[in-house]
Amino acid sequence: MKEQADILITNCSLMTPDFEIAEGQTVVIRDTRIVDIGPSETLNGKYEGKETLRGKGKLLMPGLVDAHTHTCQQFLRGRTLGEYPMIWSRILVPFESSLREEDVYLGAQVSCLEMMKSGTTTFAESGGVHMHKVAETVIESGLRAAITCSTMDIGPFIPDSMKAASPEDAAARIEELYRSYNGAGEGRLRIWFALRQVMTSTPALMSLMADKAREYGAGLHVHLAEHRDEVSYCLQHYQKRPAEVFDMFGALGPNMLAAHNVVLSEGEIALMKERGVKVVHCPRSNFGSHGFPKTPTMMQQGLSIGMGSDGAAGSSLSLFDEMRVFRSGLHAFWGLPIFDPVVIPAEELIRMATAGGAAALQIPDEIGTIEIGKKADLILIDTDQPHIWPNHRMIPTIVEAVNGSDVKDSIIDGAIVMKDRQILTMDEERILYESGKALPEVSVRAGI
Ligand SMILES: [Zn+2]
Repeated sequence: MKEQADILITNCSLMTPDFEIAEGQTVVIRDTRIVDIGPSETLNGKYEGKETLRGKGKLLMPGLVDAHTHTCQQFLRGRTLGEYPMIWSRILVPFESSLREEDVYLGAQVSCLEMMKSGTTTFAESGGVHMHKVAETVIESGLRAAITCSTMDIGPFIPDSMKAASPEDAAARIEELYRSYNGAGEGRLRIWFALRQVMTSTPALMSLMADKAREYGAGLHVHLAEHRDEVSYCLQHYQKRPAEVFDMFGALGPNMLAAHNVVLSEGEIALMKERGVKVVHCPRSNFGSHGFPKTPTMMQQGLSIGMGSDGAAGSSLSLFDEMRVFRSGLHAFWGLPIFDPVVIPAEELIRMATAGGAAALQIPDEIGTIEIGKKADLILIDTDQPHIWPNHRMIPTIVEAVNGSDVKDSIIDGAIVMKDRQILTMDEERILYESGKALPEVSVRAGI
């Protein structure tokens, strides 16, 4: 008599938590979790699955975690490249402030489709407008996410409609979202607190968001050390650097997810390590406008590092592309001048896009690696293709050659959400058709 399981993934190559590749493996999923892993010759006879995914010629990886994105910026695709400053005031602010609920809903749907089709199973949204529509999209799509609202209460170029009337007003909006959606989608969706960045936050807002995040046991999503302007602003207003300013108001802590981290001093890196802050890099966004983060130093000091796409305004949402660009950029900038070819190993890049992201989202024991007892958030990559096979070592090959479109199947929380590249939870054709009609209208309304 065979033991019952919900899903069996049979005869696959499997990426272990130590970045080894185990061949001929079967993974057993019951309800939302992985309950057994082992050689197919043993497990295939032991279990019977309601559904079986054949893994021959495929690599099973943990689902990727996009630890910093903007689902609300999906309709900016192709709009910002080659534009002169200030993109923030000329394009982003008018765009975001003119979005209607239905635009956010459609944009989030396209964003979720793109993520699922490129191997992302979890994301952290740093906060836009009409976030209840993003929450609904997360629930429908089957993705796992931590989302929040954009909070700003000062700053030039920002219209009053985008500013909170007071710090309490900003907190109230997030608390309402929290009451309605935290834990929704069978626990897949979490509501977090946020600070857009230091320059758009009053001291009162920084203190209040830090307090609220602690009170609710939630994460705090911020943009940090993204621009030199931000450092200059902090030095002028507080005689401190950005991370030190957040720390002054009690915001720097283990529940902080800090995106970007490009223009940090050595002292700030040490302070963030001490406070247990989770660092997230967005390689293409960072290389495009602000330079090269001190990632080798951060790795050496043992900081937790995740990876994000920073949304569709300046790149695709594929973390495979982010890994590849990050490796090339860091190698050229930090490695070549000192003749260090291993300044950023492939294993570390993959860790950033998986377990590092899981830590940034405050769920390192739930996702990020393939282990018994963890949530079944998994992707299957078709390796039987000339750009992947044959190879000497699969781990470097993932960074060098695998694309988002090589992901064939995706499982989140024990449910198959994509099978043979067909999204099972959303109507892809309808969403693409409707959003194709909506995008030009959004752009006319925003005047961009
Ligand atoms: Zn961002």
